[in-house]
Parts: sequence; C-alpha cells; structure tokens
Amino acid sequence: MLTKTLFDFRPVAESRITAMNLKELPFGSVFSDHQFRMVYSDGKWQQGVIEPFGDMMLSPAAMGLHYGQAIFEGMKAFRQPDGEVALFRPMENIRRFNKSAERMSMPLMDEGLFLSALTELIKIDKNWTPDGEGSSLYIRPFMFASEPHVGVRPSEEYRFVIFTCPVGPYYKGNVRVKVETFFTRAAPGGTGYAKAAGNYAASLKPTAMARDEGYDQILWTDAVEHKFIEESGTMNVVFVLDGKLVSPATGDTVLSGVTRDSVLRLAAYQGIEIEERKVAVSELKAGAASGALTEAFGVGTAATMTPIEAIGFPGGDVALPPVEQWQIMPVLSKLLDDLRRGKGEDPFGWRVVI
Ligand SMILES: *Cc1c(COP(=O)(O)O)cnc(C)c1O
Repeated sequence: MLTKTLFDFRPVAESRITAMNLKELPFGSVFSDHQFRMVYSDGKWQQGVIEPFGDMMLSPAAMGLHYGQAIFEGMKAFRQPDGEVALFRPMENIRRFNKSAERMSMPLMDEGLFLSALTELIKIDKNWTPDGEGSSLYIRPFMFASEPHVGVRPSEEYRFVIFTCPVGPYYKGNVRVKVETFFTRAAPGGTGYAKAAGNYAASLKPTAMARDEGYDQILWTDAVEHKFIEESGTMNVVFVLDGKLVSPATGDTVLSGVTRDSVLRLAAYQGIEIEERKVAVSELKAGAASGALTEAFGVGTAATMTPIEAIGFPGGDVALPPVEQWQIMPVLSKLLDDLRRGKGEDPFGWRVVI
C-alpha cells in the first residue's frame, strides 16, 4: 500500500485496562494506554504517532525547561447513554490552544489535524472512558519547546502530545476564597489569556499563602488597582447578583473558559438575564452585605462548578447563603451535565460524538 495513513500507530502489546478499577479513580494519576505525539522540526509538523503512554527522552538543554515555552489544554470526553463517547465543544479548545501558541511564539496546529488526533486517540482508548456518575475521560493536549539550546529566543523544535486520564468526580466541596490584593495572576499585555505553563507556576505561592490563612482558593483581582474581580484559581467566576448571572468579562487578563461560556449561554437560553462586565470588589462586598449576592461559583472543565461559600474581603470574611438554598447554580449544573452526557437536549450542537 502506498497510501500513507494520517498517523502512525504503535499499539500497546497488552492493554493495562484489565488491571484498572474504573469505579474508584483519583483525579489525574491514572493514564490510558496510548498517547499521541508529533514533532515540529525543519519548519513543519512531522508525521504524528499514536504510541504506548510512557516516558519521553529529552535533552537537559530542551528550551521549554528553561524559558517556559509550554502551553496546554484541558478537555473532557463523556460516555453517552448508548455507549458511544462524545467530546464537548472541542473546537473551542483547539482554537484557544492556537491563541496560546501564538502568544508564546510557538507554531500553530492545523485545526483539522488536531481534531483528528483527538478523535483517533480516543477511539483507540475508548474503553478507558468511565461511565460512572461524575466520571469522564480527561484529555490533556500540550506543547513544549524541545530544541537543545541555551539562549533566549523561540525554539526551532517542539513536541505536541495528547494523553488521557479516566477521572472520577472532582469533588472538592464548597470553597472559601480570598480576595487577593497583593499578588497578581495576569497583567494587561501579559499572558493571562493563554494556558501557558508559567502562569500556573506563578500562582502556587500566593495560593499556598491563602491556604495558610484558612482559604481554599484565591479570588484574583486586576493587576493595576486590585479593585475588580477576575477569576478564582484556575476557574472563571460567576455570581448571582439581584437574580442576574454576572461574570467578569474575559479579555487579556481573564481566560476565556469554555465552561463559563457554556454556562452563560445555557442560562440565557433558560431566560436568565446575564451580564458580562467588570465586577468591582466593592460591588460584591455591598451585595454580600445587602443580600443581593445570593450565589457565587467557579466554573471550569475539571470541576465543572464549585460553589463559593464564603469570600474573604480585605475588611473581613462574608458568608453566602447556604448552598442548599441556591436556586440557579444547581439547575445550570444539571443542564450542562446532562447535555455533556447525552441525556439532555443539545440546542447549540456542542456534543461531538467520536
Ligand atoms: C482552564 C482555565 C479556566 C477554565 O477554562 P475551561 O475552558 O472552562 O476549562 C479558567 N481560568 C484559567 C486561568 C484556566 O487556566
């Protein structure tokens, strides 16, 4: 046969799945049989390969380890009632990956090729998609600079890899968040809108300090004045203020989350009024005091929705009404979950069955 297939395929000799218990899964430390890998060199992407998940050889001088050209995505595939597996809005992640790559002077990926790599990999490891409540197949595409070279400039070699993890419910419980007024996550003109590895490294110390003060997570504010709410940890935030769903507008310092967009659009579809705008810390504090702020939650792919039970303002902590009394978040949470799992209507065509 002279026709070349899209990707090379080196299957595992024996699947590890029989030894696995897909009922009790920790988050992010069980890996499926295969990974997708593709190298960028000589100015272009070379033939990709689906191969056994495993360690990679890397030069100690690989530029990504020194100068931080490294980006990633996080998405999920869900078991459907008929046993099929569906991705959720994968093109959103693919486009955002290219936005991140562009910001970090890394080569772009062909969108169609990226989607093919995702679907081929998931097809091969389809059995790894758990079907328990709250379970899914977490997908981690990423790219890093691999050229061995000392000296700051864009690398001429990169690796693009995708691996998957069957994951159980990401239950963290309700969180207490601290309004951060010293450290910053993202500055105007910076890399906040990109899923660039260094952004996460820089958030670890402030988060650890917030933990020491009794909080679970940070509520980031703008870098210039620390007066406006941006995000919480690695999630976007949504508030219910006067019965409206309010979320800080995305931009170069607020990452444009797929979950946030999905939640807002589902809410609008339900007839709930939504506002994407600046949210001042003072407005939130006044709303918490007056009772106008009835719900607050983080939204992101990993945990989907995380209720915020208390907010630590500079002047003191304010508790929100008990989560059991919330009216809006539970409804949106169920709508989104049913949609992703093929149990509810899909008015926007967001499900992509593999
Ligand atoms: C990934 C991420 C989010 C959430 O994005 P989703 O597409 O919903 O998973 C929000 N904020 C930051 C900083 C992130 O890295």
